Amino acid sequence: MVVLKTRREIELMREAGRISAMALKAAGEAVRPGVSTFEIDAAARKYIKSQGAEPNFLGLYGFPAAACISVNNEVIHGIPSKKRILKEGDIVSIDLGARKNGYNGDNAATFAVGKISDEAQRLIDTTRESLYEGLKQAVAGNRIGDIGHAVQAYCEERGFGVVREYVGHGVGKELHEDPSVPNFGTPGRGVRLLPGMTIAVEPMITQGTWAVNQLSDGWTVVTKDGKLAAHFEHTVAITKDGECMILTLPE
Ligand code: MG
Repeated sequence: MVVLKTRREIELMREAGRISAMALKAAGEAVRPGVSTFEIDAAARKYIKSQGAEPNFLGLYGFPAAACISVNNEVIHGIPSKKRILKEGDIVSIDLGARKNGYNGDNAATFAVGKISDEAQRLIDTTRESLYEGLKQAVAGNRIGDIGHAVQAYCEERGFGVVREYVGHGVGKELHEDPSVPNFGTPGRGVRLLPGMTIAVEPMITQGTWAVNQLSDGWTVVTKDGKLAAHFEHTVAITKDGECMILTLPE
């Protein structure tokens, strides 16, 4: 069931979104060669706590950290670890959120560790841009398929793969609500977008095949061919008219 939010609820989600975005920024600023993914998680967690908010990934379905931190061929759901040390040339996807006053934010971005290859940079840039292409379609009257189609077309035209097994979602009092928001689809198909819908759009894009595997840790999702993946996400609200409102902006 899709839950529409009132203006007041969207204001509360904006605050959760702001904290989520600032925590992602703090995590991104901790990214450098030699740092562990545990330290990056700690930076995010510290910021969220400092705002009187809760890291909403922590404990969700049993996840043991505040952030999912996925390196190189890892697509999503990487578990932060003191043993996982970033090195020059890696790319690292950080996905996290905060809950404040009963409402959730959720956002993700992929960061470069020092100097990275041109191909890795192109993957990151394409994934980020595809999120904004999708968001252009996140307007009242459109359908979920319009968002997915825009993301998919943008990435596939540039030779990248679009992960099918994991998708975006509604966000609100629960971190994961209806509807599902795939990064692929057919224009004009799927749930109609209505003012007051709040959704997370989150392209997970690969350098090669879109097929993925889950590691034996029960969490980490990796590309089947071992090539790189990137991930960007915003939580947004569908407005009465015009562009969606991005809730996960830092200020
Ligand atoms: Mg999400």
